[in-house]
Amino acid sequence: MRTVVIAQEENRIDAKVMAQAGEIIKRGGLVAFPTETVYGLGGDGLNPQSSRKIYEAKGRPSDNPLIIHICRMEDLQTIVKEIPDEAKKLAEAFWPGPLTMILPKADCVPKETTGGLDTVAVRMPSHKVALAFIEAAGGFVAAPSANLSGKPSPTLAKYVVEDMDGRIDMIIDGGNIEIGLESTIVDLTGDVPMILRPGYITQEMLKDVLGEVTCDPTLLDGDCKDRPKAPGMRYRHYAPKGDMLILEGSPEAVVKEINQMVEASRAQGLKTGVIATGENADKYCADVVKVIGNRSEETAIAASLYRILREFDDEEVDAIYSESFATDGIGQAIMNRLLKAAGHKYKNLWEDA
Ligand code: AMP
Ligand code: MG
Repeated sequence: MRTVVIAQEENRIDAKVMAQAGEIIKRGGLVAFPTETVYGLGGDGLNPQSSRKIYEAKGRPSDNPLIIHICRMEDLQTIVKEIPDEAKKLAEAFWPGPLTMILPKADCVPKETTGGLDTVAVRMPSHKVALAFIEAAGGFVAAPSANLSGKPSPTLAKYVVEDMDGRIDMIIDGGNIEIGLESTIVDLTGDVPMILRPGYITQEMLKDVLGEVTCDPTLLDGDCKDRPKAPGMRYRHYAPKGDMLILEGSPEAVVKEINQMVEASRAQGLKTGVIATGENADKYCADVVKVIGNRSEETAIAASLYRILREFDDEEVDAIYSESFATDGIGQAIMNRLLKAAGHKYKNLWEDA
């Protein structure tokens, strides 16, 4: 299959391109498109064949459900059984934006899209290209991240091309992505709203609107015996090819320990890499040192994370060491993705001190 790549800017959207992309979706094809979180791989969310194609293109297990993206508030009622008050409040506060809600699904949503579940994940993105595309596509675009299963989510169109060229009909290149981490997922089907995947919309922000909001206990705890409630969080995800370890402790202790580990890895003939904050970057002796951002700029750290993981693959780094980050606010999402990338390999130097 030949994959067409077309650039679109948020402030200069070409209606003809959108119509062309929309037609592809309506006849059962696949189009990757930019959103404010990461690039999505879109198909018709109400067409079971399209969802099957998405799983196939990504190499994704078909029990891992897709998020349906909408472009109008009034379309929510079409795909869910009922809209609880909590959903109304959250939509008002955070849509369009990086928040996904889990609600009981309406009959028109095929089980292929929901991985066999009776619930459906819904989000209205804020990216203008995404909104125009969803509208042209008929209003209900099922879209996981546009990466091959197991690779970091794409934050640049070149990574979508790398993973999806020849597998899908079209890639809309919207340039740089603003947030760089997938949407926050909140489950509204239980007694108390529960975060299944942390993201840019934090637990604190959700609590401000809803009062009580809990968190799936597995999110930051690799030893937790429970199974993550979002099927997708059960798979090893976001993984670079190299072996990765996260170190937590005082800045001096972390720098010292990482440098010792780098020397040891090097002695074994391994290529070494470090994920460093701007404050410490020049203190490391690894082959490749990537600055993820300054410690105080959490949104910049979130935006760089997946690009850096992919760059380590491109540069064939074998052993990756990363600094650790606070787990409040958006830091919860950053550490959740970082821990998953490292397969939860983590060393706490405070405990050694
Ligand atoms: P992605 O769009 O690739 O970031 O993946 C979508 C995420 O949403 C995966 O982790 C899914 O397991 C999760 N998800 C989608 N639908 C549901 C649902 N009905 N219940 C729980 N989790 C869901
Ligand atoms: Mg994904």
